[in-house]
Amino acid sequence: MKTYETVIGLEVHLQLDTRTKIFCGCVTHFGKDANSQTCPVCLGLPGSLPVLNQKVLEYGMKIGLALNCAINTFVKFDRKNYYYPDLPKAYQISQYDFPIAKKGSLTITTGEQTKKIGITRAHMEEDAGKLIHSPEIKCSLVDYNRTGIPLVEIVSEPDMRSSQEAYDYLTSLKLLMEYLDVSDCDMEKGSLRCDANVSIREAGNQEFGTKTELKNLNSFKAVKAAIDYEVARQIKMVEAGERIVQETRLWNDEKQMTFSMRSKEEAHDYRYFPEPDLVPFTITENDIEKVRKTLPEFPLEKLDRFIRQYQLSDYDANVLVQDKQLAKFFEDCVMQWNAPKKICNWITSVLKQELNKRKINISEMRLTSGYFVGLIKNVEEGVVSNLVGKEILTIMLDTGRTCMSIIEEKGLRQVSDDNALGAIIDTVLVENASIVEQIKGGKESAIGFLVGQAMKKTQGKANPKKIGELIKGRFQNG
Ligand code: ADP
Ligand code: ZN
Ligand code: MG
Repeated sequence: MKTYETVIGLEVHLQLDTRTKIFCGCVTHFGKDANSQTCPVCLGLPGSLPVLNQKVLEYGMKIGLALNCAINTFVKFDRKNYYYPDLPKAYQISQYDFPIAKKGSLTITTGEQTKKIGITRAHMEEDAGKLIHSPEIKCSLVDYNRTGIPLVEIVSEPDMRSSQEAYDYLTSLKLLMEYLDVSDCDMEKGSLRCDANVSIREAGNQEFGTKTELKNLNSFKAVKAAIDYEVARQIKMVEAGERIVQETRLWNDEKQMTFSMRSKEEAHDYRYFPEPDLVPFTITENDIEKVRKTLPEFPLEKLDRFIRQYQLSDYDANVLVQDKQLAKFFEDCVMQWNAPKKICNWITSVLKQELNKRKINISEMRLTSGYFVGLIKNVEEGVVSNLVGKEILTIMLDTGRTCMSIIEEKGLRQVSDDNALGAIIDTVLVENASIVEQIKGGKESAIGFLVGQAMKKTQGKANPKKIGELIKGRFQNG
């Protein structure tokens, strides 16, 4: 068999997090009663006129700039004509020949490497409504709450060479968009949607093969699986001497297969033309600069800075940067106590686990950075043991209380008073006379067992190192 190379280009639709829709004042809350967030404009009633939401333009520019694109200062909308019951006007207002942004790139992290993926364009458009097919009443219902929700479509160059790269592109793009605060990027709610274009070619060939477009991909995992399936299908066809037809295929997640939906011949002719109800206008370089100033630190920049400024490992820094809120929480803590490595350890190993257990994210937890720092300090200063510290953290998360109030109430203060520990050790030595004999006979490794017994008696409240030293002391003194 010959060697083949995979070629992938992705089209990502992002719902913008604006308060109101793109061309009317209807609010955009998700999951409200069907058709409760509609008006004559987004219902496409005759005589109604669209007005562009300025926030959408601003977000479009933000996205374009973050993707290193050139911004078109000539802003124009176009009608994309097609009929479907979820599209009340029978056209979608989109951008055709003057997208808000074009010719950019996104640097993605894939494995240990980074790779630059070209961005062809990003344009603004309105979302369509949602059809609900109801088997009980044997008909389809339509919810127009989604019509007119602002979208930005981001189209990549065919620069990805494996399903893993496509997956990594999506992960990097989603993270960047989360940093920009323009969308909640929630695939389950449909605020981030992806179509994948896939072709293969013989390794070494310059020319691209015929592509198929994969739709109905409802998770990053599905994107990866669908591409893998499609590549295998295309290779099999080419090997059998068959021709690949340009078509749209739907991914079936249950069957883990793609099925033909429509071929190029059946494809729509959208008859694009300039939207007559929205007059084109220009934005200035000054407008663009104003938006550029609002751009946050990007994930890759933050990663570099965390590694340099706090001497974190690549791995640790990455764990923090992958979650914007977590990274902020970390820096809030460091501002209060300059111990970045200790704080990072507590966040990445202990806190994250507890949050996962509770299935909440950092913005939903009842623990402030101040209280968290207080806890770590108490452990560091030996007020409580590491083990008890972890226990206290779970109580803090559940109750929102301070570390100290929990320590006092539950009497969790570490037993470090030599007299108290001495008495406990006395008991342990008496109870384990045979072990004591073994140690005296030279089997020093058995000391660990005695330490364990003493720790048990303090319910984990003692410092094991200290107990170890005290026990060793007993044997040195004869
Ligand atoms: P269409 O006209 O069918 O919409 P476009 O040229 O607009 O095609 O490209 C749509 C998407 O398909 C882009 O993301 C692009 O990178 C990708 N693409 C184009 N040609 C190929 C190909 N041969 N193989 C894989 N992806 C491709
Ligand atoms: Zn409306
Ligand atoms: Mg296209």
